[in-house]
Amino acid sequence: MVFLMKLVRFKYNNLEKNGILGNEGIKELSCSIIDAFKASNIQPLLKKDEVYNINEVKILPPVKPSKIVCVGLNYRDHALELNMKLPDEPVLFIKPSTSVIGNLDQIIYPTSSKQVDYEAELAVVISKKAHQIKKEDVDQYIGGHTVLNDVTARDLQSKDVQWTRAKSFNTFCPLGPCIETEIDPSNLEISLKLNGEVKQSSNTRNMIFSPQELVEFISNIMTLNPGDVIATGTPPGVGPMYIGDTVEAEIEGIGVLKNYVKG
Ligand code: MG
Repeated sequence: MVFLMKLVRFKYNNLEKNGILGNEGIKELSCSIIDAFKASNIQPLLKKDEVYNINEVKILPPVKPSKIVCVGLNYRDHALELNMKLPDEPVLFIKPSTSVIGNLDQIIYPTSSKQVDYEAELAVVISKKAHQIKKEDVDQYIGGHTVLNDVTARDLQSKDVQWTRAKSFNTFCPLGPCIETEIDPSNLEISLKLNGEVKQSSNTRNMIFSPQELVEFISNIMTLNPGDVIATGTPPGVGPMYIGDTVEAEIEGIGVLKNYVKG
C-alpha cells in the first residue's frame, strides 16, 4: 500500500463498519481493516455514496488484536528521568485482548488499586502473519500506526513481581482513534494531556529500540497475527489519573485518543 489514509472501525445503527476518515467524514469500506492493509488500490473497495458524519457514529478500536505485546523502558529521556541504564534488549509483557477499548470510552478504576497511571505510546499494527522477520523486511508486515494508552495500576505493579495484574484490567488498553497507514514512525511528536494539562511530551526519535527492531525481536519469539498490536513504550512524565479525569494521548499525524476515568 502506498497511500496515506486513516482507517477506522465504527458503529452506526448497531452495525459494525469499516471506513476511511477524511475531511468530509467517514467513507465506508466494503472490506475489513486487515484487507484494506493489503489493497493496492482502495478506490474499488469504497462503497459508493456511503459517507458518515463522525459525530453520528461510535468510533470503535481500529482492530481486534489477538494480543498486545508491550515494551517496558524504551525512551532514552524516560530512562534518564528514572536514572536507569539503557536496556540491552527490550523487556516485554502482554496485555490481553479483553483490555482494549476505543476512543471516548471509559477507563474503569479497579477497586483493588489506589494508583492508576497513564502511559501514551505509539502502537504498531501488524498487517499479516509475521514469524522470524528480519528488521529490513519488517515494513511489509506493518499495516500502520495508532495511539495506545498503556494504563497501569502502578501500586500493583510495584507489589507483584509479574506485571500481568497491573496491566490487564478490562479497559486498560485504550486504542485508536484510527490507523494511519503510511506514516514514518521515526520522528513523531508524542504527548499526553490530563484534564487539558500537558503531562508527557517527547518525540519517537527518542526511542531506544525502533518499531522495526521491536517487530524483529518479538517475531523471533512468537508469531504475530494480522491485527496484533505492538506498544512501543512511553516517554517521560507518567503519572496518576483519578476518577473524573479526562486523558488525551496524541501522536503527530495520527490523532488524539481521548478517554474518561470512571469509578
Ligand atoms: Mg508502557
